[in-house]
This record gives sequence, structure tokens and C-alpha cells, in this order.
Amino acid sequence: MSQGTLYIISAPSGAGKTSLVKALLQRLPDVVVSVSNTTRAPRPGEQDGVDYHFTDKSEFERLVENGEFLEYAQVFDNYYGTRRATVQKELEAGRDVILEIDWQGARQVASAAPEAVKVFILPPSSAALRERLSARGQDSEEIIERRMRDAISEMSHYDEYHYLIFNDDFDIAVDELQAIFISRRLRLEVQRERHAGVLAGLLESGG
Ligand code: 5GP
Repeated sequence: MSQGTLYIISAPSGAGKTSLVKALLQRLPDVVVSVSNTTRAPRPGEQDGVDYHFTDKSEFERLVENGEFLEYAQVFDNYYGTRRATVQKELEAGRDVILEIDWQGARQVASAAPEAVKVFILPPSSAALRERLSARGQDSEEIIERRMRDAISEMSHYDEYHYLIFNDDFDIAVDELQAIFISRRLRLEVQRERHAGVLAGLLESGG
């Protein structure tokens, strides 16, 4: 069985990354999303072990010291990291693994695993982003400005990625994301291994 492909998907908050990835999972078999560890507190509705492994700071530091993270980074005020062992296990089982991580983590993964495919998701415009960041509740102008600044800082790294998706029309954006995954699965080296028997049969003489 061939190894799965490792994907890195980054986006500023408000670009719709999580919804796009959820929609992709409904369409494609054999894709999993890596559940990160984080020191940030759970938000309402978030479940430990599903959205994140919520980890206190000392436990997080222990994992860092033991070299258990494929990558980790401080993102704004909290630490986030991806456990190496879980990712490896899924890839070896032939599943594609998605890491939803920021640009700092993406750089670390790219140097440890240069074959990883990097996708960046962008909002269609600054106005649309501002609207999405303010539509979340009754936040003050100051908080929205901070979110805009954080988003611009994340977006400034878009050119470190292989693929860019502009999430304007949601369904089109899901199609585009799916197209990346499917095209990777159709590559010669993957297909040759997966369909070795069919290829051998096709090339047999007579029949
Ligand atoms: P949030 O706290 O809103 O869930 O995530 C904040 C940011 O942390 C997002 O940009 C997200 O991509 C990033 N992030 C989530 N998990 C990880 C991780 O394991 N590693 C890194 N480097 N970033 C992560």
C-alpha cells in the first residue's frame, strides 16, 4: 500500500478553512485531520480530543522536551503543536493527513517533510474578511482591528505555499480543494503502486 500524502492547510482566521476542510472530508475517503495539542482554553462547543487535545503548559513543555512534536509554534498568545507519531501512523496506513497549522508550523514541517503539499486559503477581499471577522458577535472596533492585523500578518506568507484558494463561493472553493487532493492521487508513482495488478494485466500479451 502506498503512503498517504501530508497536507498543510493554512489561512487567516475568517477565511473559512475549517468549514472547507469539513466539507472535503465528507466528499473524500481516506483523509484525516490531525488533532493538534494546544495550551489555549476550549471555546464553547469545542471538545477535547476532537477539536484539539487541550494541554496545560507544563505538559506541553514536556512533549516539546521529549521531541514528540513534528512542529509547534506560539500563535498569538498560545502554543500549538502536532504530534509526530499520530501523523506518521496515519500516513503509513495509506491515509492523507491534513495539518491545519499556521505559517510558522508550515515552515517546520516543510523542512522535516519537504514532500508535504502546502495549501493557503484566502478570503476574496479585505472587505469580505472584515465582514466575516466582525460578523462573529458584538465585538468592539478595537478587537476587530486586532483580528484584521493578525489576519494580514498570516496572509503575508501566502507565497510560501504551493496552492492558493480564494474562498469566495464556498462550493467552488471545496471543488478546488478536492481537485488538489484528487490530482495528487492520480500521480504516476501512486497509481503505479495502487493498480500494479491492473497494469500488469493490461500489458500481458494476448488475453
Ligand atoms: P484557533 O485557536 O483559532 O483554533 O487557531 C489559531 C491558529 O493556530 C490558526 O492559525 C491555526 O491554523 C493555528 N494552529 C492550530 N493548530 C496548530 C498546530 O498544531 N501547529 C501550529 N503551528 N499552528 C496551529
